[in-house]
Amino acid sequence: MGLFARERIEPKSTDELLRMRAAGLLVARTLDLLRGEVRAGRTTKDLDIVAEEFIRDNGGTPNFLGYQGFTGTICTSVNDEIVHGIPGPRVLGDGDLLSIDCGAIVDGWHGDAAVSLVVGGAQAARPEDLALVAATEDSLWAGISALRAGQSLYAVGAAVEDSLVSAGGRDGRVYGIVEDYVGHGIGRAMHMDPQVPNYRVSGRGPRVVVGTTVAIEPMVTLGDQDNRVLADDWTVVTLDGSRAAHWEHTVAVTDAGLWVLTALDGGEERLGRGGAAYGPVER
Ligand code: MG
Ligand code: MG
Repeated sequence: MGLFARERIEPKSTDELLRMRAAGLLVARTLDLLRGEVRAGRTTKDLDIVAEEFIRDNGGTPNFLGYQGFTGTICTSVNDEIVHGIPGPRVLGDGDLLSIDCGAIVDGWHGDAAVSLVVGGAQAARPEDLALVAATEDSLWAGISALRAGQSLYAVGAAVEDSLVSAGGRDGRVYGIVEDYVGHGIGRAMHMDPQVPNYRVSGRGPRVVVGTTVAIEPMVTLGDQDNRVLADDWTVVTLDGSRAAHWEHTVAVTDAGLWVLTALDGGEERLGRGGAAYGPVER
């Protein structure tokens, strides 16, 4: 039995999945907006203000704000910061590697997703940062595509890890996969059972059923996975100072396949590219 094998998965009904899609879509639209707002000279707090206003204007509530005392609507993690960076006066510069994690509640249901990008785009980026961002996003989609009713939830982490090992071989490096933070069940609360390791673990693991909703969120570094929390009690940074990327989606398992609730297109394009079944729920 694995560490988390006793955890329960609470399946969602069709109606509940439709409600979660509303929350997920608002998160997707917020992140899409923020991507266009990122530029050198802006602070991470500037982005946070944009996010909070957009979420509230569109019928949502930020779910990170006030969570265990967190002061942001989004998490902004720059360079060697892996996750949970607090928006503040930090001024972004060209070439910074920024991860934005965003969550919202609509009608009592939660969405949670994260993207990583380089400020100033490819022209301003170090090649290794672009490779890291791409490898991490690809590993997320590999993990999502391994989610299947009747199979172990642990197939997700195995697929994430295999994807990163393969990308590392191609990119000529060994990517660090952070194991101290994991994905999670999500629904009426942001963090629910089961935990979703973003790496290979032994044991059977919980069995995925139709109606399962989980947030999958690989955190990957250019160096080692060892990390520490800064004195602000939130920001997680790499011990070796290497840069890190973080990608996340909230995903539903349906009768027809998968529905990526926090992707603008529901995951249709990326799932199709990877040969996984795109299966949105219809009202
Ligand atoms: Mg998140
Ligand atoms: Mg999450």
